[in-house]
Amino acid sequence: MKSDHIIQIINEDLCVGCGTCVSICPNEALDIIIDKNKGIYIPKFNEKICNNCKTCLKVCPMYRFNLDSRNIPKDKKAENYLLGHFFNCYIGYATDVDIRYNSSSGGLITQLLIFALENKIIDGAIVTKMKKDNPLEPETFIARTKKDIIESSKSKYCPVPLNIVLREIINSKEDEKFAIVGLPCHINGIINAEKINKKLKDKIIIKFGIFCNHTPNFLATELYLEKKGIKKEKINKLEYRGDGWPGYMNIHLKDKSKINVPLPEYWHFIGSKIFYSKFCFMCQDATSESADISFGDAWLPEFMDDHIGTSIMISRTETGEKLLKMNKLENKIKLNKVNNNEVIKSQLEMLYVHKILNFRTKELLKHYNLFESNYLDFIIASLSFFNNYIFQFSFSMKVLKYMPFQIIWFYNTFFNTIYSIRARRN
Ligand SMILES: Cc1cc2nc3c(=O)[nH]c(=O)nc-3n(C[C@H](O)[C@H](O)[C@H](O)COP(=O)(O)OP(=O)(O)OC[C@H]3O[C@@H](n4cnc5c(N)ncnc54)[C@H](O)[C@@H]3O)c2cc1C
Repeated sequence: MKSDHIIQIINEDLCVGCGTCVSICPNEALDIIIDKNKGIYIPKFNEKICNNCKTCLKVCPMYRFNLDSRNIPKDKKAENYLLGHFFNCYIGYATDVDIRYNSSSGGLITQLLIFALENKIIDGAIVTKMKKDNPLEPETFIARTKKDIIESSKSKYCPVPLNIVLREIINSKEDEKFAIVGLPCHINGIINAEKINKKLKDKIIIKFGIFCNHTPNFLATELYLEKKGIKKEKINKLEYRGDGWPGYMNIHLKDKSKINVPLPEYWHFIGSKIFYSKFCFMCQDATSESADISFGDAWLPEFMDDHIGTSIMISRTETGEKLLKMNKLENKIKLNKVNNNEVIKSQLEMLYVHKILNFRTKELLKHYNLFESNYLDFIIASLSFFNNYIFQFSFSMKVLKYMPFQIIWFYNTFFNTIYSIRARRN
């Protein structure tokens, strides 16, 4: 077995299953599969074809925690320590009420993609929908029509091997240009891949990044449905968001009936710390810092009664700013510039976990500076790390099957409360 290989990342439980290595491997020695025990995507590796060129490691967003290479200032008080580099922060939504109501939050991603497509800025957008023949699995594809883009709107709270589509981009027609929508790990994988493949750099002209606390694994949704008594085989279509804000999980059954569960209710289970993988916990990029524009939900008191949906948006590059300043876009989206503190306020717990706790965990792992300062964060980091550790065993999942919802709710509330208290203190 080759040691300097993507297998090393998989063995350390750090593979996010983004699919970058699968697309970029010059020998096509990798494929993507679902690890049924862990409920995540991992690359399957054909040792006979591999010539140990290490390209897979070079593009991996988790190799040697490549995320550190983004020049995050060491001083946490630096202006952009929490959010990364940015030009402007906005709060807004798509003016088309249907798009806004049927998206995750304000429908800005969907509207901006439609605008870019209709104005021939791009020929297609790399987006993700749920599979028709397997409604619990995602499918990334190149959307080339408004209908395709609308079909792919809304967040998918399950693993997505987005970057397996990069091979299709590389092989697309010479002059075609694309936009891509992805989580921080996807975007960081693409940026690594662009360093190796110039075609990708020329073809992907705009990157939309999504804020991301973490991606729940497949076991989260499967176990939730099982506990609700909903059989997988009876599901025709599953949507994690939609029908306004914060929206519902809409489970469309084959008998044409529909079950909808409000986000706060199902997120306590699916989004709980139980299904929080080690790679997500170690990730230090919460707001897609490498994207041209990043998007999140406006989790602020003044928007809690807005039942249609409002997004938070950060423009980070000149490409992003140029798109937002286009005249024709004016009546398509409504935007208000806001201070970056508003963005921080809306994402306190997420930023605490990824920017402060992770830092502590890494120090903890390196066995230095232990308890030197902020010992409470060290303790919380150790607890969270222990939590990650125990839930990677299939035995834990078996126990969870029999655990009542209330205990899981209590477990999750415990973590949320300590994160919330520490986030406000930090
Ligand atoms: C796993 C995950 C975790 C998130 N965590 C947070 C958080 O902690 N805080 C926060 O404020 N917001 C978070 N978000 C972002 C939020 O849910 C919305 O995606 C964001 O507000 C954009 O809203 P919108 O209405 O503009 O998007 P829409 O117009 O509905 O468009 C959504 C776009 O995202 C793409 N997409 C959806 N899911 C995925 C996925 N898993 N991987 C790649 N592409 C995808 C779709 O293809 C579509 O193009 C998370 C999203 C995901 C998927």
